[in-house]
Amino acid sequence: MVVRFFAVAGKMMEKCMEEEYTQGLVEQFMQRCRGYGLKVTPQRLAIYRKLLASSEHPSADAVYKKIVQKYPTMSFDTVNRTLLTFADIGVIDTVESHSGAKRYDTDIAPHHHLHCIRCGAIIDFCDSDLDAIAIPERIIRNFTVLGKRVIIRGICPQCTDGSAVHDDHENS
Ligand SMILES: [Zn+2]
Ligand SMILES: [Zn+2]
Repeated sequence: MVVRFFAVAGKMMEKCMEEEYTQGLVEQFMQRCRGYGLKVTPQRLAIYRKLLASSEHPSADAVYKKIVQKYPTMSFDTVNRTLLTFADIGVIDTVESHSGAKRYDTDIAPHHHLHCIRCGAIIDFCDSDLDAIAIPERIIRNFTVLGKRVIIRGICPQCTDGSAVHDDHENS
C-alpha cells in the first residue's frame, strides 16, 4: 500500500515536472516569435504544442494529421509553412532524414540521433564524448559552423525483433 502510494506520488511529481518543462519551452517559444514579429496565434501555438508532445521528430504530414483533428479547417499548406517559419526563427530544428520528407525536432539543444533504416524512427540521445568531437580547422576556415550532430544509422530494437517476419518488406 505504502509502496503503491509512493509509486503514484512519484508519477504525479514526474508529470508536474514535465508540465513545468513544457510550459518553460512554450514561454520561450512565444518570446522568440514576438522577437521576430511573428504573432502567436492559437493555431501556431497548437502546432508547436503538438510538436512538443511528440518525441518522434514528426514530418509536416504527421503534424498535420494530428492538428486537423482539432482544427479541421487548417490546411496542410498552412501547417507546412508554419513549420518552415518556426525552423527559420530557430524555435525548432529540421532533421536530416533519408526518406526525403523534412522532419522536425523541438529539442534545439545539442544532441545526436539514431536512425532506424527500416521504420524511419529517429531517436534522440546525448553523449558528452560525441559533443566534444573537434571540427577540423580547414572546415572552420571556410564554413560557418552552426552546429554538429552525430547520426548513427541502424536497425532499432523493434525492427530487429520483427526482422524474421518483416524481412521481405525491407526496401531501403
Ligand atoms: Zn525501426
Ligand atoms: Zn532530435
